[in-house]
Amino acid sequence: MNLREKHLQSALKDLDKKRQENQSIARQRYQLVCEKAPEIAKIRQTLAEQTSYFFQETMRSPEKKAEFTEALQNLQAQTDQTITTLLASHHLPADYLQPVYDCPHCQDTGFLPNLNACLCLKKAFIEKAYQQSNLAPALASQNFDSFSFEVYGTEKNKTYGISPRENMHTIFEECHHFAAAFGQNYQNLLLNGPSGLGKTFLCNCIAKEVLEQGFLVIYLSAPEFFGFFEKYHFHHGETEIDYGFIQSIYDCDLLIIDDLGTEVITSVTQSDLFQTLNRRINDQKATVISTNLSIAQLSKTYSERTISRLLGEYTPLLFFGDDIRKKRYL
Ligand SMILES: [Zn+2]
Repeated sequence: MNLREKHLQSALKDLDKKRQENQSIARQRYQLVCEKAPEIAKIRQTLAEQTSYFFQETMRSPEKKAEFTEALQNLQAQTDQTITTLLASHHLPADYLQPVYDCPHCQDTGFLPNLNACLCLKKAFIEKAYQQSNLAPALASQNFDSFSFEVYGTEKNKTYGISPRENMHTIFEECHHFAAAFGQNYQNLLLNGPSGLGKTFLCNCIAKEVLEQGFLVIYLSAPEFFGFFEKYHFHHGETEIDYGFIQSIYDCDLLIIDDLGTEVITSVTQSDLFQTLNRRINDQKATVISTNLSIAQLSKTYSERTISRLLGEYTPLLFFGDDIRKKRYL
C-alpha cells in the first residue's frame, strides 16, 4: 500500500470512529430523554408507526401518493413542534434528538452526496500527511510568513554583484512562487550553498505550503532518504519499510531531499539517487534538493548521469553570505 492509500485509509478510519462516537452520543441522549420525558419517546414511536402505515398505504394505492406524502409531512411537522416544546420544558435544546455529526456536509462519511470528497476528509488526509512528514514541530515556526531577511548582509558581494539580502529576496520569491503555484507548473529546485544560510528553513516553508494545499509531500534528510533504501535492499521483511513507501518516494507529489552530500556514498546509493531523480523527472513529479556541495563538488561526488539530470532539470538557487546562525548569537 502506498502512502497516499495509507493516509486515506487512516483518515477514513478516523471518520468511522467519529461516526460511531456520535451515534453513541445520540443513543445516550435518547435514553436520557426516555427517562426524563417518556412522553417524547411515545410520540416518536407513534410517528414511526404512522410513517410505516403511510408507506404501506402508498404501496397499496399509488394514485394517492401525493395525498399520503402531504399528510405524512404535516404529521412530521406537528410532531417536531410538539417534541421541541416538550424538550424546552425539560431544559433541553431543540436539536437534542437530531443525529449528531461533526461535519454536517458529509454526515461524517467523508463524501458529499455527489460522491466528491468532503473538505473534512481532505483536511484529515493533510493531517495524516503532516504526521508522516515528521515536520509538524518545524512547520509551526518555519514558514514563509516567519522568514526574516534582516539576518542577511546588505554589503554587495564582489563575485555576484549583489548583496546576500538582495539574493535572498530573489530566492525567497522563487521558492514562494514554486509552492504557491504547485500543481500548475512542473519545476524542480536545487538549493545550493554553504551551511547556515537558510536552505533547510526554506525547504520547510515549501513543504508546509504544499502540504496545506493537500498534496502528498515526503521530506527526508539525505541520510534518511538513503537509509530507507538501505533498509529496503538489505533488511527487507525485518523492518516496516515496505515497497509501498519506496514507491511513494518515487511518486509522491513533492519529494524534498535535504542536505544531499551528507550521506555515505556507495555505488548502491548512487544508483538509488539516480533512479529516484530519473523516475520523478520522467513522471513530471517535482523534487526539491538542498545541498552544501558546490556544483563542482557535486560533479566530483555523483555519477555523470545524475549530474546531467540535476543540471538539466533543476532550477539552481545559489545561496551566499555569512552563516546567519552565528549572527543570531552575536
Ligand atoms: Zn465532511
